[in-house]
Amino acid sequence: MPPQKKAARETPMMQQYWRYRREDPRVPSDALILFRLGDFYEMFHSDAEEGARLLGITLTQRSGYPMAGIPYHARDTYLPKLLSQGIKVAIVDQIETPKPGKLVERDLTRVLTPGTTLEEHQLDARRNHYLLALTSDKKGNFHAAWLDLSTGEFQIASEASPKRLMSLFHSIDPKEILLPENTSSRWAHEESIRDWHQDFDYYCESRPVTILPDYQFETDSGARAVLDSLGVLNLNGFGLDVSHPALGSAGALIAYATDTLCAPPKNLRQIKEYHTRRALLLDPATLRNLEIFQSSQGGRNGSLIYAIDQTVTAAGGRLLEQWLASPLLDLGELNRRQQAVADFHAEPTRCAALADLLKGIRDITRILGRLQNRIRNPRELGGVRDTINQLPAIRTELAGFAGAEAQALHCNVSPFDELRDHLAAALADELPSNLSEGGVIRDGFDSELDHLRSLTRDSKIWLSEFEAGERERTGIKSLKVRYNGAFGYFIELTKSTTAQAPADYIRKQTMKNAERYVTEELRQKEKEILHAEEKAFAREESLFQDLVARILEDASMLEETAAALAQADVFIGWAQLARIWDYCRPKLSDDDVLDIEQGRHPVVEQMIKADRLGLRGAHSFVPNDTLLTAGVEQIALLTGPNMAGKSTYIRQVALIALLAQIGCWVPARRCHIGVVDRIFSRVGASDELARGNSTFMVEMNETANILNNATERSLIILDEIGRGTSTYDGLSIAWAVVEHLHGEGECGPRTLFATHYHEVTQLENTLPRLRNFSVSVKEWADEIRFIHTVVPGAADRSYGIQVARLAGLPASVIARAKVVLEELESEGNVLRETLREPGRIPPRAKAPKPPKPLENDDQLALF
Ligand code: ADP
Repeated sequence: MPPQKKAARETPMMQQYWRYRREDPRVPSDALILFRLGDFYEMFHSDAEEGARLLGITLTQRSGYPMAGIPYHARDTYLPKLLSQGIKVAIVDQIETPKPGKLVERDLTRVLTPGTTLEEHQLDARRNHYLLALTSDKKGNFHAAWLDLSTGEFQIASEASPKRLMSLFHSIDPKEILLPENTSSRWAHEESIRDWHQDFDYYCESRPVTILPDYQFETDSGARAVLDSLGVLNLNGFGLDVSHPALGSAGALIAYATDTLCAPPKNLRQIKEYHTRRALLLDPATLRNLEIFQSSQGGRNGSLIYAIDQTVTAAGGRLLEQWLASPLLDLGELNRRQQAVADFHAEPTRCAALADLLKGIRDITRILGRLQNRIRNPRELGGVRDTINQLPAIRTELAGFAGAEAQALHCNVSPFDELRDHLAAALADELPSNLSEGGVIRDGFDSELDHLRSLTRDSKIWLSEFEAGERERTGIKSLKVRYNGAFGYFIELTKSTTAQAPADYIRKQTMKNAERYVTEELRQKEKEILHAEEKAFAREESLFQDLVARILEDASMLEETAAALAQADVFIGWAQLARIWDYCRPKLSDDDVLDIEQGRHPVVEQMIKADRLGLRGAHSFVPNDTLLTAGVEQIALLTGPNMAGKSTYIRQVALIALLAQIGCWVPARRCHIGVVDRIFSRVGASDELARGNSTFMVEMNETANILNNATERSLIILDEIGRGTSTYDGLSIAWAVVEHLHGEGECGPRTLFATHYHEVTQLENTLPRLRNFSVSVKEWADEIRFIHTVVPGAADRSYGIQVARLAGLPASVIARAKVVLEELESEGNVLRETLREPGRIPPRAKAPKPPKPLENDDQLALF
């Protein structure tokens, strides 16, 4: 903070500024203050320096101290830039219309932080925007609460093991985290959670963390805050007790939201408990390895969500993400979702018509969130109007579906006839983005407003007549009647004409090139005009607030309608996906079966199709069957050459199980899945390398996690365990891991294990529930062709040299490798002396020869 200047030397406005900067407890010390000054938000002193640097705007020194400003109307462009860099911003606004000659009154209207924004431009429309709070109690249990202030979604969870919560945190991906000061610093020293704490610390590195005093996380006060916010006397209706320990974290969220909104949040309607044991858990490594929300390249393109997202509304997009983040174990709800997809699947034409109508609706949930939290922009009302205008047609389409689940959704979409008529009568067709611009209320809706508007319009005519009259009277053609906020209405004469000013002109202000005057008559008229304008504005504002209040009367019904439409959007999207890609409705049960006929990988299948339309020639995804049961065929051990399709196959099984457990149909001809409680995966490289762990260490950590936590209901996919160490070490580890997973009991977790260690296939002789499979390749002459078919039995060769040739290794290297291999194979792993000698180094090929064209185009997909 800059050194305090003597108050006497500061202008009244700067004194006002310093009161917020130094004295207002609501302004966080680490927030930049954006101070409204006319048409700009200004930053001063060190805030200006930091703001200018972060936003790339000009730093000035106008009044002897640093200043930097952004135009008020460009706030939506600049604020997200600060928030996305983890910066908090306190907005000090002008809260009255500036009056000439008077210091305008200002107040703190909002503190924006990365996790508490509600404004449309600061949010990703298709993603939830969570604020997370986490604490622990003396017994060592962990309590989390998370809130999306823009939609009012509010949840809590308690766990004895913080690791289970980590999976959840990765799924909800909060934009800001609140932690208690002393409790969280204690975690670093607790031996029992050291591993978790390291993970959590790393997780927090990429997110803004706000530390709050411990007392803000107390359960009693938290419960009171939750009851107040929800407007209820107890939490029984939500299946919760007021002594639930996670209410402390919930209370911290509410207190923080209240501070940042400068008022309590008004759009919280319910709180739900998330039971990690009632959901299919996906640990962070699995989320990453299976590329659920992001591809390994980091983008959404190439991820599972990208492949299955056919939604057309923002709320539908968010719901899909929520469902994918918390797959279910509950057969009842899963069946409901599947049936809803079936209802829409059965009527494609009607489905397409409904999807078209849904494209025209706005994000009602977020609009309501803003209206309820005093962010009131006329266009939001337009959004409500446009959406409910679509509802009659949407209801008609929904009513036309024969299925019971589609009918149930229809019942939850209300018609809002009265509200629609009211908004149609009250709102102008074209709405301004700001209430102060006027023109929100339609002419003819309110007689008082019409009267005040006509007065203002008459005054405008009077002013132009007055200007014309004065020009004539003075003979000065360049005379102008103008207005500004500081001086009101005035007559402006350029310097060269001031000598001609009549005697009744009263000088008001001298400019560089002009003089400004008033006359008694103009002063009188100014009073009248400003009065009428002020009254018209006040009237329009009060009508606007009435309209907001009228909309909010229907808030819970609107919310219910929005929720039903979001579901319809997801289901229609899934029905469409099922039609386009020929998905089937999986049978779900409570047993331990995993039976997939002609399964396909949902992402690779789409990629291959996309390639096919491009340059890579004809090639289509080869479906494969899978049969696993915990008690009979528990482990499928898969061998085959590199590039044959092992990883694709084992991932496809995990993805099909996951899709089935969010209620989606699956890419297969037939599918039966006994619900899975956790999916574990150990596949591919990992970005954990950034944390300084070696590939091998990461692989072993992930494997340890699986072996320690898998249950008989889990599904495990393991790819190339042991690759990161010497052959014998790796082989021994792979061997022992398979034995462990098999165990000595009657059953174990359903497991797909892909390996290049052929020796492990011998385990089929000793482990009764293990079966060997291989991904076959066609071979002729010295070439191989990938056919991606999974067949029973172990692979007999690894074809490494043939694959290397396909990858474009120089012919000389391939030739040499063949010689070495033959020697190794014929001499029982002993190299002949002659080979050990480097001998003649074969000449480098001039340019790597492209691989020979093969009969089948499959290989083209490799490059
Ligand atoms: P591996 O794990 O055996 O080395 P991958 O699973 O990575 O092999 O597959 C290599 C490539 O083969 C994939 O990128 C994909 O394009 C193609 N592929 C794999 N499985 C199939 C399949 N069933 N049908 C068509 N192409 C496939």
